[in-house]
Amino acid sequence: MADPAECTIKVVCRFRPLNKSEVARGDKYIPKFKGDDCVQMAGKPYYFDRVFQSNTTQEQFYNAVAQKIVRDVLDGYNGTIFAYGQTSSGKTHTMEGVLHDPDMMGVIPRLVQDIFNYIYSMDENLEFHIKVSYFEIYLDKIRDLLDVTKTNLSVHEDKNRVPFVKGCTERFVCSPNEVMEAIDEGKNNRSVAVTNMNEHSSRSHSIFQINIKQENLQTDQKLTGKLYLVDLAGSEKVGKTGAEGTVLDEAKMINKSLSALGNVISALAEGSTYVPYRDSKMTRILQDSLGGNCRTTMVICCSPSAFNDAETRTTLLFGQRAKTIKNTVSLNVELTAEQWKNKWEKEKERNKTLKNTVTWLETELNRWRGGESVPVDEQFDKEKAKAEVNALDTAPNNDKAAPTANADSLPGVKLTDAEKQKYEAEMAKLYKEMDDKDEEINQQSQLAEKLNEQLLDQEELLSSSRRDHDTLQRELNRLLAENEASKEEVKEVLQALEELAVNYDQKSQEVEDKAQEFEALSEELNQKSSSLASIDSELQKLKEMTNHQKKRVTEMMSSLLKDLAEIGIAVGSNDIKHQESSGLIDEEFTMARLYISKMKSEVKTMVKRSKQLESTQAESIHKLEETEVELTSCQLRISQYEAKIKSLTDSLQNVEQKKRQLEENVDSLNEEIVRIKAQEKVNTMEKENEIQSANEVKDAVEKQIQSHRETHQKQISSLRDELDSKEKLITELQDLNQKIILEQESLRLEHEKLKAADQEKSRQLQELTVLQDRREQATQDMKGLEETVARELQTLHNLRRLFVQDLSTRVKKNALVDADGIAVQKQKISFLESNLEHLTQVHKQLLRENTDLRGEIPKMEKRLRAMVERIKALEAALKEAKENAARDRKQYQQEMERIKDTVKPKNMGRRASIAKPIRPGQLSGAPMNPCINRSNLIQNNQPAGIRGGGNNR
Ligand code: ADP
Ligand code: MG
Repeated sequence: MADPAECTIKVVCRFRPLNKSEVARGDKYIPKFKGDDCVQMAGKPYYFDRVFQSNTTQEQFYNAVAQKIVRDVLDGYNGTIFAYGQTSSGKTHTMEGVLHDPDMMGVIPRLVQDIFNYIYSMDENLEFHIKVSYFEIYLDKIRDLLDVTKTNLSVHEDKNRVPFVKGCTERFVCSPNEVMEAIDEGKNNRSVAVTNMNEHSSRSHSIFQINIKQENLQTDQKLTGKLYLVDLAGSEKVGKTGAEGTVLDEAKMINKSLSALGNVISALAEGSTYVPYRDSKMTRILQDSLGGNCRTTMVICCSPSAFNDAETRTTLLFGQRAKTIKNTVSLNVELTAEQWKNKWEKEKERNKTLKNTVTWLETELNRWRGGESVPVDEQFDKEKAKAEVNALDTAPNNDKAAPTANADSLPGVKLTDAEKQKYEAEMAKLYKEMDDKDEEINQQSQLAEKLNEQLLDQEELLSSSRRDHDTLQRELNRLLAENEASKEEVKEVLQALEELAVNYDQKSQEVEDKAQEFEALSEELNQKSSSLASIDSELQKLKEMTNHQKKRVTEMMSSLLKDLAEIGIAVGSNDIKHQESSGLIDEEFTMARLYISKMKSEVKTMVKRSKQLESTQAESIHKLEETEVELTSCQLRISQYEAKIKSLTDSLQNVEQKKRQLEENVDSLNEEIVRIKAQEKVNTMEKENEIQSANEVKDAVEKQIQSHRETHQKQISSLRDELDSKEKLITELQDLNQKIILEQESLRLEHEKLKAADQEKSRQLQELTVLQDRREQATQDMKGLEETVARELQTLHNLRRLFVQDLSTRVKKNALVDADGIAVQKQKISFLESNLEHLTQVHKQLLRENTDLRGEIPKMEKRLRAMVERIKALEAALKEAKENAARDRKQYQQEMERIKDTVKPKNMGRRASIAKPIRPGQLSGAPMNPCINRSNLIQNNQPAGIRGGGNNR
């Protein structure tokens, strides 16, 4: 176990490559690297513990810089890695990298992995308790990234006066995965809370803290190591002004922590007695890392672009300054009882030796004061005393008072012990107060945050309820409008109903009127029919009466005629004025005769005409017969021609056959010729013993063949000519036949026409004969009529003569006696006649009326039918209207019911939601964030530790 040892902060420099936009802009790559610890900018060299060029991989960087921190932390030392540099110089890339990418992951994930790996390889008796915290510092406020409700945490000092973030979530972890989960969660929370993540991350410091406590279960030895992994805000903010208003305030605050860091580093570098750690929370938290008990590595991240030249140089200067800072590192060990006892013993020893020294010195002093001179070998031996004390101190343990002792001495200022103590006490009190205030601020701000949150919730609730209200209002309006519309509808329906009722009344009135009319009409009809019946009966009576009268008249007439005849007989004996009347009759008679003669002449002309017509008919019949004869001859000719054609085609066929036969013959003859020739040739060859040459034979044969062919061809040509001529003949005959057929057709048509004319003529003839017959009949009738007329005239003549005679006799005889009787009779007759006339007139009128009425009956019936139909239609319409009205009313009621139903639950729902609003604040019993619980729980329940030696692997 080592004593506090001094060591400087390790500063490494890392250049990133030119980024895309810099390359695109054509920026120059300015740093020049000299060895692995020097970089030259514009000719000026800057020295660091290590300088990493742009092509350094994450792994290389980690292995070179961060890996050994694992061992330090697990050995009980504190460690810190800072990443410092301007925005986008590669701080986050260095610290985090691409978190879950094995190649691109940065220092933090690699460290985490290595820590666990190292633990797994350690002694089995070691038990580890690892907890992580993750927070960021923005505008000098500490925000817990593992619990977003903690937005303004305060910094306190523990009993060893080591600052720590009070109330910060400490999550116990057992595996690298859990650490990575915590990091992911923190990063997520960080990005969720802000609008512009890039800007925010460049203005805030993020600190990931790992606390490792280990206990040796055998020796009870306890070691603790704290590791801070800090991704600082962009360094370009330092010293930059120009922002205004709120932005300026913000810039000041952002500057505050970074300039505080700069100031702390400057103070430490200059070795000044006062270091302004308390200027910002960040420097306070990292107090141990800067000049305290910590092995600190600062990574200076730089851009290689010429564009960032100035900023890069400032960064490099900052790094160089930081390099001079000396930390005093000591082991964080908790002593066991044994160790404490040893220590006590040692202290007691030391106390004893020191007391001895004191007494020694006192006696020496007294001796000096008493004027005595003390010999050299009796004087106090400083070296010996020191050696004694040192001998005691070489014992195996140490406390950690060193850092505090170091900070307390203020060289140059001479203070008495009492003053010093007083000041110290004052300072401690003030610090305590400050911490308390901090705590109070923190609480207040947390309260404020909570209230703010609640306010936001309330606002949200308010807005949501406002929205609800709006929607409800809208709904209500809609419903009201609907209601209005339905009211309107109802009104309309009612109006329509009223109209319908009025209509109905009108219609029923009309119907009643019509019915009344109908009744009146039927009554009238009945009356009419009864009157008709009465009239009929009257007529019957009158008829009977007239019949009776007629009978009486005829009787009277017959009696009168008898009387007249008697008178005539009485008068007949003597002709009175016969000549005068006969002259008149003669005239009439002549007239009649004239008429008759006229008729006779007419009849004669008629007869003549009929004779003419008869003659024309005979002529036409004759003509007809002639044409018929002609037609038959034509037909005969046609048949002849047809027969001829037939025979010709037959002959043609025969010729064809013959031709074929001849051809065949020719072929056979040819063959025979060839055969004969061949034979001949053989014979001649045999005969002449091959005297003649084969050529000659050939020639002869060919000649013969030629001649045969010629004859054959001639024959064929002659046959062909014959064939042609025959064909011509055939076509001619066919043409002829065609012509004949056409002629026949025309003749037939003519025949048809003639037949039709003949029929017409015969019909006319018949008519004429009928007419003639009638005429003859008429003439006969005329003759008969003449005769009868003559006879009648004769009888009339006789009668007249008789009557005249009778009359004259009567006049002569009873000239005076019968004058009155005749007058009475004449009077009677005239009366009767007038009576009869009147009656007939009445009868006629009645008949007329009757017929009129009869004519009116169907009209009335028609009207009645129409009326009945109309009534029926009206009734149907009424029924329909009633049904419609009922339906509408039902619909309306349903609609009303529906509206009521919809309105009711809404109102109820609204009442319910007002009565029981759901507010986040009401869930006071439930945990706001499971993280608190978890961490609390873990803290309370003493988390299970991790054992070394692979127990938890
Ligand atoms: P800072 O955190 O300093 O603002 P970042 O770490 O976010 O900057 O880096 C800015 C960009 O540059 C990122 O896209 C990162 O991937 C890239 N970058 C930084 N350093 C390196 C490097 N050494 N190698 C490759 N790319 C890098
Ligand atoms: Mg960053």
